[in-house]
Amino acid sequence: MNDSIGRLINYLRISVTDRCNYRCVYCMPPDGINAVGHSEIMRFEEILKVVRVAADYGVSKIRLTGGEPLVRHGIVDLVRMIRKVPGINEITLTTNGYLLAKYARELKEAGLTRVNISLDTLDPDLFRKITRNGDINSIWEGIEAVEKNGLHPLKINMVMLAGINDHEIPDFMDLTLENEWHVRFIELMPIKNQISWGELFPDPASCYISTRKVLERFQNKGLKPVYQVDQIGPAKLYQIPGAKGYVGFISPVDDEHFCGSCNRLRLTADGNLRPCLMSDLEIPVLDAIRSEKDIHELFARVVKLKPAHHELLLNHSPENRTMTQIGG
Ligand code: SAM
Ligand code: SF4
Repeated sequence: MNDSIGRLINYLRISVTDRCNYRCVYCMPPDGINAVGHSEIMRFEEILKVVRVAADYGVSKIRLTGGEPLVRHGIVDLVRMIRKVPGINEITLTTNGYLLAKYARELKEAGLTRVNISLDTLDPDLFRKITRNGDINSIWEGIEAVEKNGLHPLKINMVMLAGINDHEIPDFMDLTLENEWHVRFIELMPIKNQISWGELFPDPASCYISTRKVLERFQNKGLKPVYQVDQIGPAKLYQIPGAKGYVGFISPVDDEHFCGSCNRLRLTADGNLRPCLMSDLEIPVLDAIRSEKDIHELFARVVKLKPAHHELLLNHSPENRTMTQIGG
């Protein structure tokens, strides 16, 4: 289905939980968030109803996210159920990697297409500090399991944080030399994180660094733009000459054309359809589903409500939910 400015909407990102075993400094306050009660979280059958309606309107790609999707009990069953929905031909997962070694094989067997792992540093101590208790070994074990089970291509997402991990960007780029991975650098977004969340995250403005600055600073890596006939996904791709993998930049803040190719909607864990990550606009669907109402019309309304562009440059940023509550 096309939205009001003609963008084809074929991708739904589903937050399966707002809970997480980490407390990444830019994503959540140190004490976490008040997680939604179990009765308010969408049950699998309810999520499937939304997926079926989305597929009726031409959605073919689903991403499971959160919170940490792998802490949701039964996640492998959900993948298996979504896989069976006619029209859905791709299911991916964004994870902090902690439980990936445990679930990779079952996820592959259930029909998962591939995985994005979030990794903001290669330094074990800094990893513990950024995640506020994580163990980087789980990442390497998770990556091994992903490789072994053919969940290709692996995408690694690093949120660029000025003065915290930006000195590691060249090392992350070098991961692509010998690995067929996509290593993607993401600009920090101001999503209900405007106040200080501790020493490592005083506020998003002082931690933000633009793609443009990073590309200038690391010109010596010799990155060559990769020509993409149809840009699939939000990343602009580059390659270090001779590398096996790709370097990607996701620039929602700095790139004024970023929203022009947006093809996605989001479903929050408590059952709200969200047309844009950066806008507080939401349409609740859970009550309608629980009262056995048809939600086709609600879904179509969300597509039509999708804003043409975010308004970050006008200092309008989302305020009603943190990233972990929306599903990044
Ligand atoms: N827990 C999973 C994970 O960390 O991959 C999935 C949910 S997490 C919210 C999804 C992605 O959003 C992660 O890659 C995380 O780094 C990113 N993220 C969280 N807050 C962000 C922010 N303010 N700006 C940019 N990316 C953010
Ligand atoms: Fe959890 Fe992912 Fe947010 Fe980190 S980025 S706190 S792992 S939801």
